[in-house]
Amino acid sequence: MPKIDLINLDKPALLTLLVSWGEPAYRAKQLYQMLSRGVPFERMLQLPAKLRARLADECLANGVSIERTFPSANGDTEKYLYRLADGHMIEGVRMRYKYGDTLCVSTQVGCRMGCAFCASTQDGLARNLTAGEMLGQLAAQHSTLPDGRGAAPIHNVVLMGSGEPFDNYDEVIRFLRAMNDPDGMNIGSRRISLSTCGLADRIVKFSKENMPVTLSVSLHAPNDAIRARIMPIAKAVPMRELLDACRSYFTASGRRIIFEYVLIAGINDAPEHARELARTIKGMAYHVNVIPLNSVPERGLSAAGEQSVRAFLTELEKAGVSATRRRTLGSEVEGACGQLRRSYQNLTTTGSPPNA
Ligand code: SAH
Repeated sequence: MPKIDLINLDKPALLTLLVSWGEPAYRAKQLYQMLSRGVPFERMLQLPAKLRARLADECLANGVSIERTFPSANGDTEKYLYRLADGHMIEGVRMRYKYGDTLCVSTQVGCRMGCAFCASTQDGLARNLTAGEMLGQLAAQHSTLPDGRGAAPIHNVVLMGSGEPFDNYDEVIRFLRAMNDPDGMNIGSRRISLSTCGLADRIVKFSKENMPVTLSVSLHAPNDAIRARIMPIAKAVPMRELLDACRSYFTASGRRIIFEYVLIAGINDAPEHARELARTIKGMAYHVNVIPLNSVPERGLSAAGEQSVRAFLTELEKAGVSATRRRTLGSEVEGACGQLRRSYQNLTTTGSPPNA
């Protein structure tokens, strides 16, 4: 029998399980709190030894474990390869900022959205992650410490790892609700960002969930024609529909939209693209994040040169667009989506090391 992944159980399900084992109800809350902090069973000293033994026998405290850690040279970023209970690998990044740490979480193993510049999607979608496997990425950050306390807490969470969050809608919603729980992670919506390639109908649905997270939208182009060259989703969802969905989200949540714009040499990085972008999003409540591409040599795409990046930002500024250039954390440790997992797969299948 496969072990029960306890962190994937909602609070009522955890209670039902423990009560069915003849345990008092308060044990469920204790267990829930410790699971959220990544405490392994043997260190759950609040629980009787017999219960700990049964838990270890029949359950997993966390189906996600850190397989390898890749620190950046200057220490501001740490990249992880996590192993799932079925052997699949996913990745994550922890970024250190002055105000606290941000953890980048994956929502799927691989991705089926097919964006030309993204490494996560190159082998398609392997499977969705459960909410527990998303929570597990957070809990794993604490698991190396004696009781989970004392680890630098995760201040912000961004759903920007591999996968399209809205292609795994129900589990992502369970994950967001569980993160909000004061007995658990206690990470409020305002400390969470969700990034989507633009599934407009799901954005509209999400506006009704009353979860005012920051919505980041991977726009990456000023019009449908350019967008369709690099993002297959653009053929199914015209930009007009996507921007209408963003307006609904702003109306419902009061949160301005973050538009992500990866600059790719010769594709979307000309000054006229900046001007067209300004016209396209005019009147909306937004901020634009300009991101230099982490180049994906397999796809023949390269980052816009420094001069184009500057010219693009200047053009946006002239047009009155609120925009900043995103700090390129993570690129030296292959921080862009899916690159690390692919390197690892190459390593295990061909013996060549990451970066080779
Ligand atoms: N599927 C979601 C979230 C995952 S990707 C989405 O599309 O938004 C997180 C962000 O990284 C997206 O903005 C994505 O476009 C960007 N990204 C993907 N590959 C990249 C690369 N090679 N260089 C820079 N950014 C990249």
